[in-house]
Amino acid sequence: MKFNITCIPGDGIGPEIVSQAKLVLDKVASKFGHEFIYKDILMGGASIDVHGIPLTDEAISDAKSADAVLMGSIGGNTDTSPWYKLEPSKRPEAGLLKIRKELKLFANLRPALLYKELSDACVLKKDTSDRGFDLIIVRELTGGLYFGKRETVTENGIRIATDTLTYNENEIKRVAIKAFEAASKRRKKVTSVDKANVLDSSRLWRAVVNEVAKDYPDIELEHMLVDNCAMQLVKDPAQFDIILTENMFGDILSDEASMITGSIGMLPSASLNETKFGLYEPSHGSAPDIAGMDIANPIATILSAAMMLRFSFDLNDEADAIERSVVKTLAEGYRTSDIYTDGCRKLKCSEMGQKIVENI
Ligand code: NAD
Repeated sequence: MKFNITCIPGDGIGPEIVSQAKLVLDKVASKFGHEFIYKDILMGGASIDVHGIPLTDEAISDAKSADAVLMGSIGGNTDTSPWYKLEPSKRPEAGLLKIRKELKLFANLRPALLYKELSDACVLKKDTSDRGFDLIIVRELTGGLYFGKRETVTENGIRIATDTLTYNENEIKRVAIKAFEAASKRRKKVTSVDKANVLDSSRLWRAVVNEVAKDYPDIELEHMLVDNCAMQLVKDPAQFDIILTENMFGDILSDEASMITGSIGMLPSASLNETKFGLYEPSHGSAPDIAGMDIANPIATILSAAMMLRFSFDLNDEADAIERSVVKTLAEGYRTSDIYTDGCRKLKCSEMGQKIVENI
């Protein structure tokens, strides 16, 4: 089969890790008889440097015309990069918010899986890490605080900043359906996370999730307050299958979930719309501190490519082949420096990509 993939190498380590993911996809294409056609577009700082804005209309239309988008990461050092002297709407992250909105990517799926081979890297107590965990955070991506009305005014010499958190029931319903659908293919449990003891938006969230749950009688649903969820993630992450939550809570909890696995460099993500289309990217940022050194871990991006094959192209055997290759490579003792432990063999970013290609 033939698929068009728009690639966003982005900034920092982005170009290094995306090129490794493309090599892995090329190996899958030759082994399974497919053709992947790539078109690179600029976004974030790379686009600001060329076009003065973080995302052009042409880049958006290239992304829309593809079968899926594979991204590295965007952004620079927020203290020192000149990109962060621009007004907020022209900074790198504005490109990411815009593409999510333009592509109508309302559901973000972030798996957090503790690999047996990496359990030593897990920051949790040994009895907790020994139990392992395998959860997915389903985060609403185009509503809530990050997209609400905001303003900063000065009244009587006092600066006042306001952000607003709004959800309508349709926005909650469609992401809840994605979460229940994902749970139905896994361990059949959804934990919906909110702050319903304080926020009106959370009370609506809870009511709509309860309504959606009626269509999924075989899925267990529980509600949890976000502060409790933050604690439970470090105390007993094995209790979770699917965590469903709104935009900002999901932003924070998914970073927490990545950290407890031991390496943010291992975790992929998928952002989906109503159709099969999705944008796939690692959960980490552009790591400007190690950019250009060929030491980044490319596995999160390679696993994002596997998610793309599974969710957008329905190529499950091919996705399995990539995921098996990653596990095999880890089991053989190969590590990038972020996940290195004594006795393992340290590889550069490009060497890790090559090993995973060989093991497919
Ligand atoms: P970061 O994830 O880039 O880096 C945090 C730490 O993890 C750094 O020490 C980095 O070296 C390390 N790290 C991250 N990915 C790694 C990998 N693949 N291999 C090895 N080590 C890795 O987070 P940050 O430093 O807070 O942000 C840097 C920039 O990335 C900022 O501009 C931020 O806005 C941007 N960012 C972009 C996205 C995105 O594009 N979706 C997401 C998060 C952050």
